[in-house]
Amino acid sequence: CKMDKDENLGPGCDVTIAEINSINKKIRKDIVSLVNTDFFRYFKFDPFKKCTFWENNDGICFSRSCAVDVVEDWAKLPEYWQPEVLGSLANDSTNENETHHTAEDDASFLNELCNNNNNKNNQLDINNDLNYYDINDFLNKDAVLVDLSKNPERFTGYGGQEAGQIWKSIYAENCFSSDEADTCLAKDAFYRIVSGLHASIGTHLSNDHLDTTTGEWGPDLDLFMARVGNFPERVSNIYFNYAIVAKSLWKIKPYLKELDFCNSYDNSVKQKIINIVSQLDSRIFDEDLMFKDDYDASIKDDFRSRFKNVTKIMDCVHCDRCKMWGKVQTTGYATSLKILFELNEADEESRQQVVNRLTKFELISLLNTFNRLSTSIQSINNFETLYNERVNGE
Ligand code: FAD
Repeated sequence: CKMDKDENLGPGCDVTIAEINSINKKIRKDIVSLVNTDFFRYFKFDPFKKCTFWENNDGICFSRSCAVDVVEDWAKLPEYWQPEVLGSLANDSTNENETHHTAEDDASFLNELCNNNNNKNNQLDINNDLNYYDINDFLNKDAVLVDLSKNPERFTGYGGQEAGQIWKSIYAENCFSSDEADTCLAKDAFYRIVSGLHASIGTHLSNDHLDTTTGEWGPDLDLFMARVGNFPERVSNIYFNYAIVAKSLWKIKPYLKELDFCNSYDNSVKQKIINIVSQLDSRIFDEDLMFKDDYDASIKDDFRSRFKNVTKIMDCVHCDRCKMWGKVQTTGYATSLKILFELNEADEESRQQVVNRLTKFELISLLNTFNRLSTSIQSINNFETLYNERVNGE
């Protein structure tokens, strides 16, 4: 990518791409190890939740048309390469070999996990909902438990018109009513978050791509360039999202010691998070530039409800694995936005409202989203090396 790595990322970010690359190298080992701990590798979501945005959204994509723009002739490919297989969930979290839980208590495992602390002050107050996602996502009885580490985000063959319609609806949410300067800042941030998510997904599917001629999984440089690398703005939006999530983690640093990640491994999990957060600094993003006064409060309400719609649009995604990672990441951004825009550290009540009420699902999605971005940045650095090797004929 022809980008200036020493230039700041844009409004609100007093940090360069080169600096984020360097932070990311330092935290990489801890974030990977963190998302593989018992607390962080399980997620709950409802794959059957009704899509409320349009009619005729008959669930799973069984049609080859989902994938026309990726592979020309799916019918000739083996069964295990079909989009409905690649995009399905390998949910064997009921695996009896695992010592910490059994099939019978599978559903209650995550419910029990750290119940003592995370639910302590967690009476949901629907009338005072500061959430940027739909809280019903995690309360629904049809929600299933998935082991994220067994369902990596990678190429699934999901695409074509259906995926295009989802992206179109997501971008259409960025439609604020006024064009005042502050609205523009909010609009710009909203666009960057969505585009950064889109580009991050594009990076993962290019990095973990199925070569249908050899049957091997691996990075596809041409695909990465076509989706992300040839668009410096998209690359920059991934870094912007990294800055947003990193700043929200930085902001809850003083309260981390009060959070509990379960008895026996509580300390080691906490230590990993502290190692990560201590590599971050507040310059990475300045949330105070947005929503400064009373007028801005209404823009903030608008922003919140529009972002909530983005999290709900995930219910319309046809490919289960894409939907799951879509939920993880939109909930992760929603949690970051709540911490950035609703937590006023000087105000005890705001602290109680936001930090004390953080649920395990918010923490799980927040840290997994950070890992998704961290992985994207590592892949971008690798793709850059591959690109330079190609250009220099090595
Ligand atoms: P799309 O990526 O569908 O994009 C549509 C249009 O948006 C493009 O033509 C372009 O004009 C514009 N655009 C593209 N990228 C950006 C950007 N970063 N910023 C701004 N504008 C942009 N596929 C997988 O293989 N694995 C997955 O895990 C996966 N997860 C998904 C999750 C969700 C929520 C969705 C909606 C889709 C997911 N997909 C996944 C599908 C994938 O995102 C693409 O839609 C698909 O690969 C087809 O890509 P495309 O090139 O046709 O354009």
